[in-house]
Amino acid sequence: MRWENLTLESDHSRADAALFGADAVNIRTFDTPEFAGITFHEIRARSILNRVPGASRMPFEWTVNPYRGCTHACVYCFARKTHSYLDLDTGLGFDSQIVVKVNAPELLRRQLGSRRWLGEHIAMGTNVDCYQRAEGRYRLMPGILGALRDHANPFSILTKGTLILRDLDLLTQASQVTDVGISVSVGFTDTELWRTVEPGTPAPERRLDVVRTLTEHGIGCGVLMAPVIPFLSDHPAQLRDTVRSIAAAGATSVTPLVLHLRPGAREWFMAWLVRRHPHLVRRYERLYADGAYAPKWYQRRITRQVHELAEECGIGPTRAGMPRRLPEPEPADPSMSESVQLSLI
Ligand code: SF4
Repeated sequence: MRWENLTLESDHSRADAALFGADAVNIRTFDTPEFAGITFHEIRARSILNRVPGASRMPFEWTVNPYRGCTHACVYCFARKTHSYLDLDTGLGFDSQIVVKVNAPELLRRQLGSRRWLGEHIAMGTNVDCYQRAEGRYRLMPGILGALRDHANPFSILTKGTLILRDLDLLTQASQVTDVGISVSVGFTDTELWRTVEPGTPAPERRLDVVRTLTEHGIGCGVLMAPVIPFLSDHPAQLRDTVRSIAAAGATSVTPLVLHLRPGAREWFMAWLVRRHPHLVRRYERLYADGAYAPKWYQRRITRQVHELAEECGIGPTRAGMPRRLPEPEPADPSMSESVQLSLI
């Protein structure tokens, strides 16, 4: 693996200083069924705060990503490409070769205490899920949340992981001293589709339970309805069911996002489509003929439908600190960090 080429500021731009040296890598596996077939690469990172290039189009400028790779294994995951920067496979390798920055909490605490740090908003879950299964074993997030709380530093988390509820007390404490924004990603509620396309994630209903619980504890929680998968989760009845469930869970906002198929994700997703839904392959080739994004007319149609449904269902405005809508996807801006541009799910 190309550890020596990794960077600390833009997370995978090779222009910056090395993130970790080869001697910092400890490779581990665990015997428990939960982690069968998964290899963890434990490293000591040199920095944990990543600056987002071209942040003007994003609602945040700084990110913290304690993991790379994600056992949630979503077939469409936009972050798959980032594994290639480690010379790791973007398919099964992304799902099963997980990099763990074991010193993330202590590093963050130190960096937050630096006189140069201005207390800006920090986004988590923008590259891979910080509450993926590995977090159950490594427990990095309690230390990270503790540091953010102690420095009253505003932050947001985007996750599909129910494990976030383990840290409810810390989230509550943090929300008493700073702006905390939580978004849960639920693109659809179709359980058959979930089992095949998001095989390592908690079921959509369990994720909505997270929304419900956070709301009951006074921590407003939005839902990123992502991805809406063309021809598989975009039927008006499916959109309606999903938005109704999101509303019933008490979400403060719902933000739809249509599937992107960038390199890394595209090959893996299309191979899955050939196996599972071969009759859709031609339609996908046509819909994504111009690149990674579905046509604007399609994106606008989905956005309009979801917003109308949200209004019907009475989903209210979001809390301060989290945008009601993330920016609509645009063709890739080369000045922007891929990890952020692509991984808002
Ligand atoms: S989409 Fe999110 S939860 Fe799914 S594999 Fe990627 S980072 Fe993990």
